[in-house]
Amino acid sequence: MSHLMLVPSLACPASCAYCFGPHAGGATMGRETLTAIVEWQRALRATHDGHDLFDEGGRGEPGGRDTESRAGGGRSGQTGGPGANGGPGANGRDSLEITFHGGEPLVPGARWYREALPLLRDGLAPWRVRFATQSNLWLLTDELCELFNEYGVSLGTSLDGPEAINDAQRGPGYYARTMAGIERARAHGIEVGAICTFTAQSVPHAQEIFDFFVREGLDFSVHAAVPSLRYPEADRWSITPEAHGELLIDLLDRYLENLTRVRISTLDSMARSVSAGHGGICTFGDCLGGYLAIGPDGSIYPCQRFAGMPEFAVGDVAARPSLVELRESPVWREFRAREEHVKEACGDCAYFGLCRGGCPYNALTSSGGALAPTASDPHCVSYRRVFGAVTERAMAEVFSPENLDAVVERPDPERGLMRRGPLLSIMREGPPSVGDRRPCSATSWPRGTSCLRRGPDSGRLRLGELSADL
Ligand code: SF4
Ligand code: SF4
Repeated sequence: MSHLMLVPSLACPASCAYCFGPHAGGATMGRETLTAIVEWQRALRATHDGHDLFDEGGRGEPGGRDTESRAGGGRSGQTGGPGANGGPGANGRDSLEITFHGGEPLVPGARWYREALPLLRDGLAPWRVRFATQSNLWLLTDELCELFNEYGVSLGTSLDGPEAINDAQRGPGYYARTMAGIERARAHGIEVGAICTFTAQSVPHAQEIFDFFVREGLDFSVHAAVPSLRYPEADRWSITPEAHGELLIDLLDRYLENLTRVRISTLDSMARSVSAGHGGICTFGDCLGGYLAIGPDGSIYPCQRFAGMPEFAVGDVAARPSLVELRESPVWREFRAREEHVKEACGDCAYFGLCRGGCPYNALTSSGGALAPTASDPHCVSYRRVFGAVTERAMAEVFSPENLDAVVERPDPERGLMRRGPLLSIMREGPPSVGDRRPCSATSWPRGTSCLRRGPDSGRLRLGELSADL
């Protein structure tokens, strides 16, 4: 496991109409819970000697057996950010990403971070910790900016486009407050990325939204509004899988013409997945265990999307559960059963190695809240469409006269066949860093850092490999 999502508070001052996550109630995470998190992580990591804690299916069994099939044989080295500790492993596998999530993670204020950041960083040393926050930035203060600079905390926010479009779905005044937060962060030298959620109402305005992000110089990732396990009223905002696919294809066209002006991390991730032959963000990997969320009361969940829903807890940090105990929890077993079923159900899909069956949360919402092993992510249709389009366009760029001329005239073993073409230029920035896994709900990685995650070799199209061979 390389990523923890800490939810310091379930509360949120905003009232986005389509919100599917926790956004009300409860106490702030206390020092006792933070200490328990550190001790729990130290115990797990000591037991497993820094190896991937939660890899299963022959990749590290409960006894801590290492895996021969760990992709790439080790993680890529991650350069330590300003707040990173030097870890013991030169290959970077002894690192941990901690994303503060919500609710709204800035609700507890600077005082809480002043206590939490050193406690986590120093408590987990010598493992290297990288911090990120996914916030609407309404409560961002100069003091917090200074703290975030001191500890290398990167910032992501949520913004859905121009004011009228954004505030129609996120509530009046949201835009102004978030833009003020972005300005404040920038004044302190902190660059901010955004998650842009597209709803049934905003999809028709995709061009306007894209232009907004270009104009503001804000990189973004694409989220489809999905139905909620908690709030049925959010469902009317969700977009159909077909519309999701259409949207991504539409954005891909615009994006490839504006690569020097904006980055869309979702599309970067999908493009690099195709070239590398394995998946990107958490949606496209067996996410169970790769990302765990801790609620304010110390409950452990498979993902932040479940925070505050006790029926989805897999443990509690107060008990410092072992890996075996986590795996034996009923929720973990259900999620694992689904992953196993997906391997069979999707097995013939040309994109299985890139996708791994999609998101369990989406599958849950489509199966009435009970995770039947046969539950599938309804957005399959959009994943297929986009992976198919990226593959097709990449091949067209590879065989374009412009690219072939460059290949023949100036051979370059490093770049191989990927010389000329916008999509090929994205792919050249990959392949994804094995083990540098990020949740799709976090946008706050530094520019140039891969947002991709591992996945087993698909044995299918691998442009990266193709180019190396040639
Ligand atoms: S958003 Fe979906 S795919 Fe990503 S970690 Fe959560 S449940 Fe898994
Ligand atoms: S695209 Fe659909 S069928 Fe293919 S692996 Fe993903 S969810 Fe399964």
